[in-house]
Amino acid sequence: MTFKALWATKPGDAVSVDLIDLDMEALMPGDVTVAVDYSTVNYKDGLAVTGRGSIIKTFPLVPGIDFSGRVEQSSNTAFQPGDRVVLNGFALSMTHHGGYAQKARVPAEWLVKLPEVISNRDAMAIGTAGYTAMLSILALEHGGVTPDRGPVLVTGASGGVGSIAIALLSKLGYHVIASTGRPEGADYLKRLGAAEIIDRATLSTPGAPIGSERWAGAVDSAGGQTLVNVLAQTQYRGTVTACGLADSLDLPGSMVPFILRNVTLAGIDSVNAPQAVRQVAWQRLAADLDLAKLGQTITEIGLAEVPAVAAAILQGKVRGRTLVDVNR
Ligand code: NDP
Repeated sequence: MTFKALWATKPGDAVSVDLIDLDMEALMPGDVTVAVDYSTVNYKDGLAVTGRGSIIKTFPLVPGIDFSGRVEQSSNTAFQPGDRVVLNGFALSMTHHGGYAQKARVPAEWLVKLPEVISNRDAMAIGTAGYTAMLSILALEHGGVTPDRGPVLVTGASGGVGSIAIALLSKLGYHVIASTGRPEGADYLKRLGAAEIIDRATLSTPGAPIGSERWAGAVDSAGGQTLVNVLAQTQYRGTVTACGLADSLDLPGSMVPFILRNVTLAGIDSVNAPQAVRQVAWQRLAADLDLAKLGQTITEIGLAEVPAVAAAILQGKVRGRTLVDVNR
């Protein structure tokens, strides 16, 4: 029996990705075999598929950092055939075959059973970007940022993390300020729940180490000078979450917001998050995300179209979420 998969090889310096048929024997060790329904294209997938960023550590490999699907076979009592599951991160697309295939075999401890109200399609419309947005909001709540404390800024607003963070925060009652480099997409951001839109250029050049207190918290996926300016304009005892580096990997900033304003900078990692945290995040996504709003963030593609979208996401040309139907 064979199944379709994207297959990343590195014959020379460059990574090549082809759509091929694989035998079941090509699957890697694991106690659960999954019939994959959907994957997505995240920024990290863009880096992996184009060969930038050294995401894939062992070649050849099936890329794709996440998937949703149905359990086909399990030698672990925690999972039964037919269970609907989601996987975000761990070694997928690094050293273990990932979600850009019709089949996957993985360790049971990497899988989360999907809440009843989240379909397999919704799970990947949310994807690692949406799950990371939820982890960011959990960190804001942990830092005491409640809607009555003031506005929350979302940078990278039109991206995957940003779009779903806006939808979640607005449903939870926050006044959301969306920072974007695509002001022409303001209507899209407002439909998601943004109350105000600001131009990301206002946050991208070096500014004073501390400025006026504009937001109680922020969900940042940009890093770099953007994150430094976000911190400088965060209210006393506010919290800023940092998950991404769409602007830069650097943090060319000042200690002042931390020691004068008691600002908290909370790091967000979705890849190796403990199982208990994942369960909470997916339960909260089930409760707090308006799934109808998710619809407008989605573009659906098949496996063959992944390489083109992977290149586009690195150029900031993808809006919202790209859903990959691996059986299309
Ligand atoms: P997307 O590419 O979908 O979104 C990123 C957005 O950032 C873009 O849409 C754009 O939004 C904005 N942006 C692009 N370039 C710049 C720039 N130079 N300065 C400021 N903003 C910029 O990616 P995702 O939403 O999937 O991921 C966002 C980031 O989070 C990535 O760096 C990704 O690697 C990281 N990430 C980290 C995770 C973790 O576990 N820590 C998990 C998931 C993602 P606009 O046009 O509106 O400005």
